[in-house]
Amino acid sequence: MTLKERYKRFKAWQVNAFDWSYDENEHHYCVNCENEFVGNHCPHCSQKAGVGKISWKSVLQSSAEVWGMHNRSLLYSLWQLIWRPGHFISDYINGKRQVSFPPVKMLVILGIISVVVDYLFKAPDITEEVIKEDSPLLNQYFDWVEASPGWGWLSIVCFFIIPTWCIFRYAPRNTKHSLPQGFFIQVFMSIQVLIVDDLADFFSSYFYIMVPLCYLYAYRQLFGYGFWGNLWRGILMLVSGSLFAILALSIIELLTTGPTHAIRIFHTVCCALLAVGSMLLGMFISKSLVRRKEKKRKAQEVNNPSSLIQSSEPSENSELSDNPDDEPDDDE
Ligand SMILES: [Zn+2]
Repeated sequence: MTLKERYKRFKAWQVNAFDWSYDENEHHYCVNCENEFVGNHCPHCSQKAGVGKISWKSVLQSSAEVWGMHNRSLLYSLWQLIWRPGHFISDYINGKRQVSFPPVKMLVILGIISVVVDYLFKAPDITEEVIKEDSPLLNQYFDWVEASPGWGWLSIVCFFIIPTWCIFRYAPRNTKHSLPQGFFIQVFMSIQVLIVDDLADFFSSYFYIMVPLCYLYAYRQLFGYGFWGNLWRGILMLVSGSLFAILALSIIELLTTGPTHAIRIFHTVCCALLAVGSMLLGMFISKSLVRRKEKKRKAQEVNNPSSLIQSSEPSENSELSDNPDDEPDDDE
């Protein structure tokens, strides 16, 4: 197999990784309820086809189940999240629940593992300066993030839910996704951020540069924009979300530290305006681009009605194209 063929196969796998097909001629006998059936699971009692008597494999499997390492396994879900993040998230938020280990549980388990590993293997860093904020509430919050990084990172990346919802509303894929879907997108993203955080802890803080790259890569697959369209929207979304997070922190600080300088109130107001402004700017540009495209298409239909039948099919396909590289960039 040539390198190009391998790459094509990898791309196809990224878009569609799961094969639920089964051999219709293959009959199974259910050990549990003694039913005979065709398919992957017994339709009477839902026991999996091919389950036999207790063996050493069962011992291993049921021990691994405690940590979610059985089917829909945590490790396999992580593997998917690393190699096809956007498509994997898209599968999940569109109802293919069976493809993933429950995401919030995955985040919390990984959070616990990273605390334990940190505790066991990381030498205490005495050079690390402890920066304490003026506000006791903020100090409490940062301590909590340190102690439970899973929930901690989730609470931070949740600030990206609204900017994503606004800026990527008119995307070719997952158009007008809902806020609950947005929540699950960020749960999956915080799993990736958590892994980057662990890498940064162990090797070098340069690894944090991977956080925006993870977002850009996943969003490209998830929303289907071309390279540049995805880049500017992604950066705008990250800036806006970060500003919202800073805004929340400074509001808490203002509320808990009591009377304070006017300059800090001024900073907070500026932050709020910039956060909302950048988000609305992204949404407005996206919307007007979609409108312009729609107008162009309608004008083409009026001028050349016969092209409608020919063009309607490929244009639909191109929006859901398997390979985002083939898509024309919507922003000129
Ligand atoms: Zn059965």
